[in-house]
Amino acid sequence: MLSSHSFLQNSPFLSTTRLLESKTRPFLSYNFRPSSFTICSSSVQSQKQDVVIVGAGIAGLATAVSLHRLGIESVVLEQAESLRTGGTSLTLFKNGWRVLDALGVGDYLRTQFLEIQGMAINTEDGRELRSFKFKEEDESQEVRAVERGILLETLANQLPPDAIRFSSKLAKIDKGGSGETLLKLTDGTQLSAKIVIGCDGIRSPIATWMGFPEPKYVGHCAFRGLAFYPDGQPFEPKVNYIYGRGVRAGYVPVSPTKVYWFVCFNSSTPGPKITDPSVLKKQTGELVKNWPLELLNIIDVTPDDTIIRTPLVDRWLWPTISPSASTGSVVLVGDAWHPMTPNLGQGACCALEDAVVLARKLASAIKSEPKSVENALKSYETERWPRIFPLTIRANLVGTLLQLDNPLVCSVRNNIVIPKVVRLGPILEHTNFECEPLS
Ligand SMILES: Cc1cc2nc3c(=O)[nH]c(=O)nc-3n(C[C@H](O)[C@H](O)[C@H](O)COP(=O)(O)OP(=O)(O)OC[C@H]3O[C@@H](n4cnc5c(N)ncnc54)[C@H](O)[C@@H]3O)c2cc1C
Repeated sequence: MLSSHSFLQNSPFLSTTRLLESKTRPFLSYNFRPSSFTICSSSVQSQKQDVVIVGAGIAGLATAVSLHRLGIESVVLEQAESLRTGGTSLTLFKNGWRVLDALGVGDYLRTQFLEIQGMAINTEDGRELRSFKFKEEDESQEVRAVERGILLETLANQLPPDAIRFSSKLAKIDKGGSGETLLKLTDGTQLSAKIVIGCDGIRSPIATWMGFPEPKYVGHCAFRGLAFYPDGQPFEPKVNYIYGRGVRAGYVPVSPTKVYWFVCFNSSTPGPKITDPSVLKKQTGELVKNWPLELLNIIDVTPDDTIIRTPLVDRWLWPTISPSASTGSVVLVGDAWHPMTPNLGQGACCALEDAVVLARKLASAIKSEPKSVENALKSYETERWPRIFPLTIRANLVGTLLQLDNPLVCSVRNNIVIPKVVRLGPILEHTNFECEPLS
């Protein structure tokens, strides 16, 4: 592998220098709204960077690690003071694991999280409608729920020290001279970047600046939590779904001591932001109060600080109507580009896929002419869009069907569709994704 230093020295596009440079030219700013220009004069120091990634979530860190493995260094700007350590867990399917293997962290993570063997679908009164074994449907399937905090930490540990700059919140983005992009942080720091990768999540300021509309609320919210059993959790390694009318729940063992759960419910509005854990726990309990005791006990032993409530949103990337995933040398990755509902467990998996695809294209383009970086970003979109757009729609439709509360429809679902019609193999075909190691 080429060292990043020699690689970048030979690159006509990127410079190895990350010098502090004084800038006095006026700062033409979009303030995140392409239609509302403001001109501000600035004489503050502007730092020159080659590749800036905004957001140290799964997409940002996986992109930084992928580039690093290919010999390209980047700076990751994260608004928070540290990595998001709390929170719950994510179910990663085999496509996610292929990427984690390519990044060289798959085996390390496997030692910490249980392999989930199958899934069972039950009614709210405890009747099992159907069960599946993943390997019987697809021998190569791999399903594990991973703690988000550990996944982020593991990715961050692959990066050189100081690659992530915390407390660095992007406030403004703007086109600079010579194809560079100007980034202004809330603390006044200004950066001038040759390539900007927006991994700033569902409310991405960079996506807004590029003309994307806000993600759309889909009519249901989810409570999530991570139950803790200091003496060991008692569950088989399978995903348990419980389908009610307009409410559904699920739980899955994550590790020998932790169990992830969710409760998804219909709500005409996203509702107020509630952070008081006792209120969240009480509201969750009310939604499923007569449901199987096992679920209620899991919610009961959940530490307060892991319970969250999230309104579910997505954004459909309509051809010709949606803005492009890149403009010049600014590109979007993960939720910043394609927020999708979690009904297929694919948001983070797709963010991981995006990261490796983009990094490969960027790394080879960086060796050639500046124009080819823009082409590489277009090529990334061309490759990823046919994967992302149908998945976003499918995830939405699955959620809509599962959240129906009409008694007749629910009866057909429980007595005919799930027991007799559903086949897991075809449903999980979207988890097929091949990925060679990055080196
Ligand atoms: C209820 C629920 C369950 C889910 N379950 C699954 C699952 O089982 N499997 C799965 O694959 N996916 C799942 N997902 C989806 C998954 O959580 C997301 O797809 C994934 O987190 C996207 O990662 P990201 O890095 O793109 O965005 P994020 O994780 O949102 O990261 C964005 C980062 O950017 C930072 N940032 C934002 N704005 C700025 C700024 N102005 N300046 C600097 N930094 C900024 C944020 O602080 C954050 O660190 C679920 C989602 C939900 C809501």
